[in-house]
Amino acid sequence: MSYYTITLKLHQPGKLKREILQSAMENYTRAFDYLLREAEKEGLEAEEFRNGGKYKLTKWVGKDLSARLNQFQVQPFKDSLKLDFAMTMSSYLELKEQGRNVGFPGSYEDAQGRLKTLRPIFFCRCDVNRDYCLLYDEEKNRYYVKLYLLNQRSALLRDGVQSEESCLKYIHKSGQSPERNAARERFILLPLSFGTSQEAYLKRCLDNPEMLKTARLIQRNGAFFLAVNLELPDEEKLEPETFMGVSRGPGNSLSVTVTDANGGVVEIQTVVLQGEKRLRGGRPPAEIYLAAKRIVEKAVSYRSRVILENLAEYTDKATDLDFGRGKDQRVLRKSTYQAFERILTYKLDFAGLPAPVQVSPFGIFSTCPKCGLNSKKSISSKEMFLCVSCGAAYQLKYLGSINLANKLIKYRKDDIKIKVVNGASGIRLSNEILGLDLQMTGTEDIMIHLNRNIKDLIQEAKDGGIYRGGRRELRKKWSLIQKIESYDDFTKHITFI
Ligand SMILES: [Zn+2]
Repeated sequence: MSYYTITLKLHQPGKLKREILQSAMENYTRAFDYLLREAEKEGLEAEEFRNGGKYKLTKWVGKDLSARLNQFQVQPFKDSLKLDFAMTMSSYLELKEQGRNVGFPGSYEDAQGRLKTLRPIFFCRCDVNRDYCLLYDEEKNRYYVKLYLLNQRSALLRDGVQSEESCLKYIHKSGQSPERNAARERFILLPLSFGTSQEAYLKRCLDNPEMLKTARLIQRNGAFFLAVNLELPDEEKLEPETFMGVSRGPGNSLSVTVTDANGGVVEIQTVVLQGEKRLRGGRPPAEIYLAAKRIVEKAVSYRSRVILENLAEYTDKATDLDFGRGKDQRVLRKSTYQAFERILTYKLDFAGLPAPVQVSPFGIFSTCPKCGLNSKKSISSKEMFLCVSCGAAYQLKYLGSINLANKLIKYRKDDIKIKVVNGASGIRLSNEILGLDLQMTGTEDIMIHLNRNIKDLIQEAKDGGIYRGGRRELRKKWSLIQKIESYDDFTKHITFI
C-alpha cells in the first residue's frame, strides 16, 4: 500500500463561507492549543506513551476535558482533534524517548492571546454525514467538497434545494446522492479547483472511493485548500525489461535512449518541444504533458525502467555545451525538466510502470558509454563526441540519454564495496567514501546493522546539505548515495573486500 496527498483549492468561497472557514480554523487552533497547554500543565510525559501508544493518548482527553473543549465550538471535529493531538504528542514523546533534544510543542497564541498561525483542521475520515466528503457532478465534470464545520447552534438555515447541486453524487462507497432533509445544515459545500495531475487522481477515486482517507483544511495566503490523503491500491506492476534514459538535449528538446538489459542501444530519439519554454505561473505548458504522454507510451511498449537526471543537486553541464550556441540551441530549462519529471512520475504510475529512477547527471555529456572515460577532451565538436581513449563516436545530443540509460547497469556491475578488517576487538567494517566505520561485536546480524548504519549516514549527509557542497569528495559521496538509493534492497549489492 502506498499513500499520496493531493491538494485541492476551495474555489472562490463567498463572504459567508469564508467567515465560516476562518472561524472554524481559529476555533480548532485555539482548542488544539488548549489541549497542549493542559498536557503541559499536567505533565503528560513518556509514561503515557509507553503504555499504549497514540490511541492511549486520545483517551488521555477525558470526559471532563472533552466537555471543556466545547467552549471553542469544536463539536464537529472533536474526534479528529483528539487524534491530531495524540499524533502530535506521540511524535514529540517518541523523539524524546530517543534522547533527542526537543521542546514541548509551542503555543499558537502570542502574549496578547492572538493567534500566531492557524493549525490545519484535521478530518479523520471521509463520510457523508460528518467530517468531510467529496462530491462529483458528472454533467459538468466538477468536483465539490462538503465540510462539516458547524455545530447545532451555528448551523445554517436551509435555503431551499439549489438546482445547481441536484446532479451531485457523493464520492463514497455508499454511492448515495445527497439528501437535503435537515432544516438546519452543519456543513458547507464548495466547488474545488485543481490541476491536471490532481484531476487524474480524482478520476481514480470515482471508481475507488475507498482510496479517500483523511484530509486537512489549510489556509495559505488567504486562500483555503484541502489536502486529501489517498491510499493507492497495490497494482500489479510491469516488470521492466529495458532501460530508458531521458536527458536534456540541445535546443528545446529531450533526448530519449532505450537500451536492452545488456546496455545495447535499441532506439534513440529526440522529442522536440515547439513553443513556450518557460513555466507560466509555475504551470508547465501543454506540450510538456504531451511529451510526457509520448514518452510513457514508448516506455510501456518497451517495458522500460525510466531513468532521469536529478538536476536538484549537480548539473549535467549541458548549458556549457551550447550544442552550437545561439538562442535556438539553448537547453531546456531546469525548471521545465523538473516539471516534466513530476508529470512523468504519475503518468508512469498510471501505466503500471515503476517510478522513474533519478540519478546523478554528473559527467553524462563527457563520459564514454563504451570505456567509461570521463574527459571533456572527447567533446570534439558541437555535434560530436569522440572518445580520446577508445575512439568510440557518438552524437553529442544523444550522449546524455545513453549514459543515463546505462547508469543502472553500471551501478549493478559495480557493487558497494565494504572493507572488512578483523581486529582484536572484533570485525570492523568501513567505506571511506561514505564515511562508514563500524565496529561489530559479533552478536548482531551484519546486514541489518549495515543497513541501519548506512541509512543513518545517508540521512545525515542529506541533512547536512551534501549536494550543495560541490567539492570533489562530496560529489563522490553523493554519487554513491544515489547509487545506493537506486536499489530496492542495497544490502544485496554489497561486496566485502
Ligand atoms: Zn571510450
